[in-house]
Amino acid sequence: MSNRPCATIDLAALKHNFSVVKQAAPHVKVMAVIKANGYGHGMLTVAEALSEADGFAVARLEEAITLRNAGYSKPIAVFTGFCSTEELNAFATYDLDAVIHSEYQVDLLAQVSLPKPISVWLKINTGMNRLGVEPSEVHRINDRLTLSGMVRQPIKLMTHLACADDMQSLHTEQQIELFDASIVGLSGEQSIANSAGLLGWQYSQRHWVRPGIMLYGASPFCEKSALELGLKPVMTLNSQVIALRTIKKDDYVGYGASWVADKSCLIATIGIGYGDGYPRHAATGTPVLINGQKGYLVGRVSMDSINVDVSECRGIKVGDTVELWGNGVTIDEVANKSGTISYELMCGVTERVKKLIKSMASDE
Ligand SMILES: *Cc1c(COP(=O)(O)O)cnc(C)c1O
Repeated sequence: MSNRPCATIDLAALKHNFSVVKQAAPHVKVMAVIKANGYGHGMLTVAEALSEADGFAVARLEEAITLRNAGYSKPIAVFTGFCSTEELNAFATYDLDAVIHSEYQVDLLAQVSLPKPISVWLKINTGMNRLGVEPSEVHRINDRLTLSGMVRQPIKLMTHLACADDMQSLHTEQQIELFDASIVGLSGEQSIANSAGLLGWQYSQRHWVRPGIMLYGASPFCEKSALELGLKPVMTLNSQVIALRTIKKDDYVGYGASWVADKSCLIATIGIGYGDGYPRHAATGTPVLINGQKGYLVGRVSMDSINVDVSECRGIKVGDTVELWGNGVTIDEVANKSGTISYELMCGVTERVKKLIKSMASDE
């Protein structure tokens, strides 16, 4: 028996989730977002499974070069663009789409002589105040980019939604209106929508959608589950029971003795902890699945293990497989109980977790 935790990546689920994107946005091109190592699933594994995507998006140049070197010839957008002439030259060399979000990048373009013009997305700040040029500057910067002679025409136009996960929020509509007002007269392709945008605001779909989280089978909304959206979890995180003990009323479990039994309990110790990416802030009561039955986390998460109350479960043995998240316990539920979001849990699975790729159709 090996007690190394394991993350199984279900490629059939990934492809299914891609089909959910296509159903929601049938006439639109899809830029699959595979930054941060494909949200922790393995960038190249995800790219290969999503060969139907019209393009890919990553956050950083290095990720894009890895993808290009692996043989992908479709458009690859780099959300942070370039921040030096050296990086800018790489966009030409590797034929990557640069996001221009700040005017210093236009200044850099004026300093180089590229072998051929690069493709760019001009990103507009419509409210998020993270990356993007001001709406009032769009035409002036668009003209500067055009005059540089270093960018392909027409220049593509994008923005990013801050609150699309909340279907009640008025910000989304305001951001879309501001985007439309700022690009009047410009003819380039447009892109606004992340997962929540494309599912919740159909008129945000435009020419390209940029789904990330929904591809991996977690919900982009606070108030709608992945199941309700027809999404399937791509990652299943498993480990094993490595010890079992019966404790008495008033015995405590784990660091800080933060949890004390109010009756006699059967405690299973599971070989996974925050050193593997299981969230340290998971609260007592966070569910895990053992032999198809729910057990509940008690006490603090350690680096290499957690403790689970399995008093209500039958026939638990050392060596039994435990699901931390996947089909039986959703990653959204674990994230909720840990005060975080599924995105952080997916990205946070560490190197010592073995990755298994499941490429067969899932058993349904
Ligand atoms: C990460 C990211 C996305 C994907 O967002 P999801 O919520 O995962 O769908 C889209 N666009 C930009 C600019 C991003 O940074």
